[in-house]
Amino acid sequence: MADRNNEPKSPPAGGGKGTKKNTSYWFFILVIAVIIGINFFPTAPTPVSTTWETVRNTMLEKGDVAQLILFRTEFKVDVYLKEERIENYPDLVAKGFKNKSAGPHYSYKVASVESSEANIDQAQQTIPGAKEVVRDYYDGTSWWDNGLVQLLLMTAIFFAFWLFIMRRVSRGAGGPGGVFSVGKSKAKLFDRESNVTITFKDVAGLAEAKQEVEEIVSFLKSPGKYTKLGGKIPKGALLVGPPGTGKTLMAKAMAGEANVPFFSMSGSDFVEMFVGVGASRVRDLFKQAKEKAPCIVFIDEIDAIGRARGKNPNMGANDERENTLNQLLTEMDGFETNSGVIIIGATNRADILDSALLRAGRFDRQIYVDLPELKDREEIFKVHLRPLKLGGDVEYAFLAKQTPGFSGADIANVSNEAALIAARKDRDSVTKQDFLDAIDRIVGGLENRSKVIKMSEKKAIAYHEAGHATVSWLLEHAHPLLKVTIVPRGKALGAAWYLPRERQITTKEQLLDDMCSVLGGRAAEELVFGQVSTGDQNDLEKATKQAYAMVSIFGMSDKVGMLSYYDSSGQSDFNFIKPYSEKTAELIDAEVKELVTAAYARAKQILGEHQEQHRQVAELLIEREVIFSDDLEHILGKRPWAEEEDSPKPTNETDDVQQ
Ligand code: ATP
Repeated sequence: MADRNNEPKSPPAGGGKGTKKNTSYWFFILVIAVIIGINFFPTAPTPVSTTWETVRNTMLEKGDVAQLILFRTEFKVDVYLKEERIENYPDLVAKGFKNKSAGPHYSYKVASVESSEANIDQAQQTIPGAKEVVRDYYDGTSWWDNGLVQLLLMTAIFFAFWLFIMRRVSRGAGGPGGVFSVGKSKAKLFDRESNVTITFKDVAGLAEAKQEVEEIVSFLKSPGKYTKLGGKIPKGALLVGPPGTGKTLMAKAMAGEANVPFFSMSGSDFVEMFVGVGASRVRDLFKQAKEKAPCIVFIDEIDAIGRARGKNPNMGANDERENTLNQLLTEMDGFETNSGVIIIGATNRADILDSALLRAGRFDRQIYVDLPELKDREEIFKVHLRPLKLGGDVEYAFLAKQTPGFSGADIANVSNEAALIAARKDRDSVTKQDFLDAIDRIVGGLENRSKVIKMSEKKAIAYHEAGHATVSWLLEHAHPLLKVTIVPRGKALGAAWYLPRERQITTKEQLLDDMCSVLGGRAAEELVFGQVSTGDQNDLEKATKQAYAMVSIFGMSDKVGMLSYYDSSGQSDFNFIKPYSEKTAELIDAEVKELVTAAYARAKQILGEHQEQHRQVAELLIEREVIFSDDLEHILGKRPWAEEEDSPKPTNETDDVQQ
C-alpha cells in the first residue's frame, strides 16, 4: 500500500532524453494529422457538377458567370461565378460555398474543346450578360488528380514512417518508454534534486526494524567507519512483513535520509510479455546503479520474481521469471561488496522466496516488519493524527487499544475515515466517537440500516448474537466482549465484537474457549427455535479451520499425537500428496469432528444453564439493536476472571451471522 501523495516528481532514470522522445512523437503525430487532413478535411469545397445547358440558360442568362476555364486534355470546363452571386445558388451553399468563396464553383464535361468553344462563342453573341465572361485555357491536369503524384506522395509518407520506426529500433532498447525500450529498467530514480520529504520521523514504532535500516543508511554515509576494522558492508536487506506495515514507507524514508541516489521499482516491473526482457531489465538496473554508486536499489514485492524456482503451478510456463531471477542472482554476486550498491527487497511472503536469493552474500539481512503492537499503534496514531483537528476527548492510547491487529495502513485509513465522518456531520473537530465509527466501519463494513429484515429473522439474529455474547461472557479465556449489534453491516446481519487480547502464545484451553464461543450462536438457535440456519456458515468455517489447525498443526490431539504437518517453507504449496497416510487422514478428520462436537455441546450446556439471562440479552438487543459490555454485566454479572493485561491476536474479531 504505497503512499502516493508524497512521491517526488523525479526525472526518469534514463536522464535527459525526454525532449528528444517528445520531438519524435510530435513528428509522428504531425504526419498522421497531415494524412487525415488531406483526406478528410479538404480546404475548399469541390465544384458542383452541372451541364452546359444549365450554365447557358441560368448562369449566363443572369450574368452571374465571371470566368470559364476550358481544360484541353481533360474535356471539362470549370465555371467561376461572380463573388457576390454565389449565395443565389442553393446547391453551392449546400456544398459549403459562401459569398466570396474561391472557385471553381461548377464544372461540366464536354465532348471536345472545339464544340465547347463554339457553344460559348454563340452564347456570348446572343446573351448580353455573357459578353464580358473571361475565357481561359488549361493544357495540363491538376497535380492532385494525377495518380502518379498521389502514389509518390503516399510512398514518401510511408518511407518517412518506416524511417521513423527504424530509427527507434536501431536505438534499440535505448529510448526510454515506448514499445522499443522494453529492455530498459523501469526503476525510478530519486536523488538529491528529487527532494524526498519522508524521513524516519514519519515511520512510527518499528524500533528494531528502523534501527537496522538506519544502520544501512549509515554504511552508505560513512563506509570507512565500518570497513576500517575489516568488516564488509552488506549487499542487501530484505524487509519482510504483512501488508501495510510500512515496508515501502521505510524504504522511502531511507531515500529521504540517505542522501544517495535511490532506485525504486516493483518486482512486477521486471515482468513483461516479451521473453528475455526481465533479465535485460535486471542487467540495466545494475548497470545504472553501478554508475551512480554509492546508492540504494529498492525492489518492492520482490516475490513477483523471487519465487522459488521450479515450484510454480503453471508447469513450464515460468521460464521467463526464472531467467529474470537467475539474472538477479548473478548480478547480486557480480558486484564487489564495497562497490556501495545496497539492494533492499520488500515482500509479504519470504517463505516462498528462492533460498538462493536469501543466502548470506545476497540478502544478508532479513528485517521483520511486524504488525504494530499497542505502543507502536499509539505512535502511528500520533503520526497520522498530526494533520487533523482533534476534539478534546481523543486519546492516542485509547485509540491504540481499540485497534488490535490493525496495520499502519489500517490506522492511516481509520484516521482519514474519522476525519471524513466528522466532516460529514459538520463538526469543527474530529471526536472520539468519529474514530469509533471509523473503526466499526473498517472492521465491519458500512452500516446498512435500510436492509429489509423480517421480524422473525431479526429475532433469530438477536438470539444468535446473544448466544455468542452469553457464552463468551461465561468462558474464562474468551476474548473480552466490546459490543453486540444486530444492525447489518457489509455482508453481516449482526455481530458480536470482541477486543482480542494481544497474546504472544495461545494455549489449548484458550483455543477451545474461542471455539466454544464461536459456536454459541448456532447453539442458541437450536435451543430456542429448535432449528438451525444458513447464517451459521461463517462460524462453522471458523471452528472447523481452528480444529484442523489444533490437530494437524499444533499437535494438540492426543490420538494424532505431537505431530505438525505444516510446512512453513511453502515448498509443498503445490504438492498434491498429503504428508500423512490415509489412516492418519481419517484419524485427523475424526478428531476434528470430536473437537467441534464437544465445543458445541459445551456451548449448548452453558446456554441451557443460563437460559433466562440469554433471553434477556436477546430481548434487549431486539429493543436497542446495539448493546455494550456494561449491559451484559448488568444481566450476567461481572466476569469473575480478572482481565489479562493486553497482549496479541491479530484481528479485531467478530462473530457474525452472515447473509
Ligand atoms: P505492502 O506489503 O502491501 O506493499 P507495505 O508494508 O509496503 O505494504 P506501506 O506502503 O509502507 O506498506 O504502508 C502504507 C501506508 O501505511 C503508509 O503510506 C503509511 O501511511 C501507513 N503506515 C504503515 N506503517 C506505518 C508506520 N510505521 N508509521 C506511519 N505510517 C505507517
